[in-house]
Amino acid sequence: MKFSLKILLWTMTVMALALGFSGFYFVNFVFETSLSREVGQAKDESSILGFAFETAALSVPAKYSVLPDNTVEEIAANLEKGGQSAGRLLRISDEEKNALYVSDGFEMDEALLMRTEEDTKAYRIIRSDDHYYVHTGTAVNALNRILYLENLKDVSEVFTERAIGFSLYRRVTLIMLCAGLFVMYFISSMLTKPVRLLTEATKRMAAGDYAYRAKEISQDELGELTRDFNSMAGALEQNIEKLREEIDAKEEFMGAFAHELKTPLTAIIGYADMLRSHRLDEEKSILSANYIYTEGKRLETMSLRLLDIIIAGKEDAQLQTVSVEPVFDYLKEMFCARHEIEFHYTYEQCRIEAEVSLIKTVLVNLIDNACKASEDNGRVEVSGCAVDSGYRFAVRDYGIGIPQAELHKITKAFYMVDKSRARSKNGAGLGLALCVQILNIHHSELHIESEAGKGSCFSFVLTKSEVRDES
Ligand code: ADP
Repeated sequence: MKFSLKILLWTMTVMALALGFSGFYFVNFVFETSLSREVGQAKDESSILGFAFETAALSVPAKYSVLPDNTVEEIAANLEKGGQSAGRLLRISDEEKNALYVSDGFEMDEALLMRTEEDTKAYRIIRSDDHYYVHTGTAVNALNRILYLENLKDVSEVFTERAIGFSLYRRVTLIMLCAGLFVMYFISSMLTKPVRLLTEATKRMAAGDYAYRAKEISQDELGELTRDFNSMAGALEQNIEKLREEIDAKEEFMGAFAHELKTPLTAIIGYADMLRSHRLDEEKSILSANYIYTEGKRLETMSLRLLDIIIAGKEDAQLQTVSVEPVFDYLKEMFCARHEIEFHYTYEQCRIEAEVSLIKTVLVNLIDNACKASEDNGRVEVSGCAVDSGYRFAVRDYGIGIPQAELHKITKAFYMVDKSRARSKNGAGLGLALCVQILNIHHSELHIESEAGKGSCFSFVLTKSEVRDES
């Protein structure tokens, strides 16, 4: 069952019960009040009639020592006549409770008469045909006789009023419920609108529309739920986008990897086939073997680099406080045999937080790339200086540079701006990808500035150590 329908049904049930009970209580209260007023009046009338009877008996001639039966009838007839306009009905009974006078239409049994004693008054409410009466009984002491006087007071009007009250209230309740149903239908559908909008949003998202957001239409708890849902959807969308990008990157990587593997393998298989199926002269045999060797070497370098990247990606940072001096000493020694390039090293003494062997790998890769990009007698500058955010390493060359459009791609695995040139220099497009992974571990990034034909500058910043350098 729909939530709005549930709200509607429960509200209507509560309304019906509340109106029913309050109506019943109200009409009944009015009825009880009117009835007790009528009973009071009937009792008063009974007392007045008894007093009038006793007074009338006083005027009986002195010759009678006891009130005669015919006088009783006379007095009773006079009393009945006196209240004829009000529909007064009487019954007078003697000491043995035998009726001496009964008004026409007084058709009551003797149950009340039997309960009425010399010193007690009694009453009851009784229904006869379609009429309701207050039946009272009282004892009258008249001229040495105890007589019993019963009176009937018609109170049918009070009961009719109650019946009218109930029927009127039933109709009012029905009208109120119909109006309530109409109003509550709109209220419940308005209250549940945010829930409907949320349901719509979840359906759209489940169908793949991750950019869809639920409309916020209220400031209450449901509005808060919508806001939370939308922010959750936002986070979900971002994660899905990230996952998609990762999948795309992995697919791209696999494609590039397969391609890079195929090129050297094709050369190796081709030359090996030539060696085994033809009798080649010595010069050609050496040439073929040389091709197989260099391509094999390239494959070896590539697999080692890939291994490095995978390891760097999984490694947790084990950063130590180290001085930059040994790093620069290592680089100087490493590249001292490259006489075709003019190296310049300038650095500030400092201690940094780093994994030394990994940072050396980054710098070796960057310097190697700078050398590859430079002409013979080209200049490569390696520098290190303290900056506000840490310690900045930079490798600058004045070689071929990188076109702006390629800049953001060169850190991707297997990407080479000029493939044939890179391969001829034993490149596989993995060096910068490895550098990025290593710098990630150091919570740093690779900055590249380059201009085609003018040269490039690759730099990164590492955290400076708080420990003072004693050297
Ligand atoms: P490779 O093994 O080919 O050097 P890298 O990932 O280190 O792979 O570099 C990717 C590509 O970026 C290179 O093939 C080259 O085209 C370009 N590149 C890198 N460094 C430089 C540089 N200093 N000057 C010009 N191009 C560069």
